Amino acid sequence: KDVLVRADHVKVYFKGKDKKSGTVRAVDDVSFDIFKGETFGVVGESGCGKSTLGRTLIRLINPTDGHVYLDGEDISSLRGNDLKQMRKKAQIIFQDPSACLNPRRTIRQILMEPFEIHHLTGKIDVNARIEELLHLVGLDTYHLSRYPHEMSGGQKQRIGIARALALNPQIIICDEAVSALDVSVQAQVLNLLQDLKKRLGLTYFFISHNLNVVYQVSDRVGVMYLGKMVEIATYDQLYEKRYHPYTEALLSAIPQVDASEQKERIHLSGEVPSPSNPPSGCRFHTRCPKACERCSCDTPELREIEPGHFVACHLYD
Ligand code: SF4
Ligand code: MG
Repeated sequence: KDVLVRADHVKVYFKGKDKKSGTVRAVDDVSFDIFKGETFGVVGESGCGKSTLGRTLIRLINPTDGHVYLDGEDISSLRGNDLKQMRKKAQIIFQDPSACLNPRRTIRQILMEPFEIHHLTGKIDVNARIEELLHLVGLDTYHLSRYPHEMSGGQKQRIGIARALALNPQIIICDEAVSALDVSVQAQVLNLLQDLKKRLGLTYFFISHNLNVVYQVSDRVGVMYLGKMVEIATYDQLYEKRYHPYTEALLSAIPQVDASEQKERIHLSGEVPSPSNPPSGCRFHTRCPKACERCSCDTPELREIEPGHFVACHLYD
């Protein structure tokens, strides 16, 4: 399989809000690949670093350490025009479309922005392209003269998607892209994303706190806990077997269609510890039902224990 994005020992540290909180290790030594054409889903509780990781993969955040490769190019230290050119290839869709659509601009003006930023307005037929984009996301041209507040949440998210598609990106980070929408609208937007992926050959890094959604759309899934990737596997592999005790607990919460396949719900005790002061050894040891002595001092490495199935847990050393 072709690798589109490679994260190589990526760390993102930043200063906490006050002196007491010290350095927040939002992403702490994460390495993995995203293949061309796949949906790589990321799950984990809020604060596990999934949004920070997503932004770092497209250089909206600079990694503190490590490298990110996009299509073979190290983008970790790109500057100026090189960085700007890279941005055409990698886009992001956020949870709240209203927050990123200027309320004083019409939809036409909003969709014009990417072309203006990249000085393409004189070079291509932008109006034709904008109409094409609108049709791609299932909206009609009469929406062009509207303002964001005249549209529904689902329509606004479609505009967000259209804008992300404007410059023919290769990868889109979907950060809670459907989380703010009603369930029925959620399904429509998910279908649209799936459809666009097929038609345009896109790759998605799909972040959601909603396991059901991630599980539905992903080819592969990465599970994050406190800044670490603790398990990576294909959907089918995870369906068969989850190795990491945290994955097991997380996925036990997903309702099964077939009641006989319903796993007993595993409730985790305790709070998620702070990413500025993570537990020693395996970060999950303070909540892990299977922890042993070694877990509190040795940090388990993410290792491939079956072809394509990676786990960071001492149970499988
Ligand atoms: Fe649990 Fe130990 Fe495995 Fe961590 S390494 S998940 S604490 S068994
Ligand atoms: Mg988030």
